[in-house]
Amino acid sequence: MPYKAEYIWIDGTIPTPKLRSKTKIVEDGEKPPIWGFDGSSTNQAPGERSDCVLNPVYVCADPIRKGGNKLVLCEVLLTNMQPHTTNTRAACAEKAAKAAGDDYLFGIEQEYTFFEGSRPLGFPEKGFPAPQGGYYCGVGADEVFGRPVVEAHLDACLDAGLRIAGINAEVMPGQWEFQVGPSDALKASDELWVARWLLYRVGEDFGISATLHPKPVRGDWNGAGCHTNFSTKKMRESYQPNVDAAEALAKRHDLHIANYGAGIEDRLTGHHETASYREFSYGVSNRGASVRIPWQVEVDGKGYIEDRRPNANMDPYTVTRLIMESVSGV
Ligand code: ADP
Ligand code: MN
Ligand code: MN
Ligand code: MN
Repeated sequence: MPYKAEYIWIDGTIPTPKLRSKTKIVEDGEKPPIWGFDGSSTNQAPGERSDCVLNPVYVCADPIRKGGNKLVLCEVLLTNMQPHTTNTRAACAEKAAKAAGDDYLFGIEQEYTFFEGSRPLGFPEKGFPAPQGGYYCGVGADEVFGRPVVEAHLDACLDAGLRIAGINAEVMPGQWEFQVGPSDALKASDELWVARWLLYRVGEDFGISATLHPKPVRGDWNGAGCHTNFSTKKMRESYQPNVDAAEALAKRHDLHIANYGAGIEDRLTGHHETASYREFSYGVSNRGASVRIPWQVEVDGKGYIEDRRPNANMDPYTVTRLIMESVSGV
């Protein structure tokens, strides 16, 4: 029996790319081949030269269709097989190969917000819900909104074989988080993109959409981030390399901020568990710092650090690449 391969790719929408997908029927026993699409409909090509190439880079079981069906994450190439300008994975792969000796691990905390119609899930028709305080890791129908979707998404990720570390309800009603990894840069990034696609796809079945908007509600409500935890072999063996990594990130703060997701200035205000985008800081246990050294890492004298700056709408290929570029060789 032929199987259904859902080809997933990242488009050219500015400033924040979107996920796209379409289905190819592939013969039993065959690997998903290179395919193509109309780049003029995704902001990736002009109409008169519209063909772009889909090159499979990560294949897993399709937990939605089940059976022998597959999800096929692709990178976008030009017809001469060179990376398309929207293909940020190629540069990440190049850096990851050069940094292989450092043995990087990334654990990425994806925060997101459910919407039903034009309002975050759990927000009343008029006005606002009770102020923040009780929602984070809450329980009960008055505090938690969308758990059935979250559970279905978690099951889908696990059935697909993605490495997920956990989930939790977040600070604002309708806001949640899942964590991908720890894995190397490419695996963590590929799996984050597939997990995002599954989030949107699972939401369809519930009539609920998810957004990665970094500041979905203005005012006294938390934004949505994508804290990126990372370590090298050295950081996992002793303490000082963790401090050195934080210091290395300090040197290129502005470059990181500029590439950590559109609208980052609206989220990194210095309030709501963020540090201002204007200044770099780090500290043990400090959730008001740009980079946090977890208390357990100080106690153990080794481990990893958390870059708290990336927005929920960041591109993990770019974020992990920049971290490797800034930290490697330190
Ligand atoms: P918090 O919400 O307290 O910031 P989470 O538990 O949500 O923390 O996320 C911690 C993340 O750190 C997880 O994704 C986990 O996989 C990751 N992590 C744990 N150990 C390491 C490590 N040695 N290197 C990289 N990431 C790690
Ligand atoms: Mn977390
Ligand atoms: Mn969080
Ligand atoms: Mn965190």
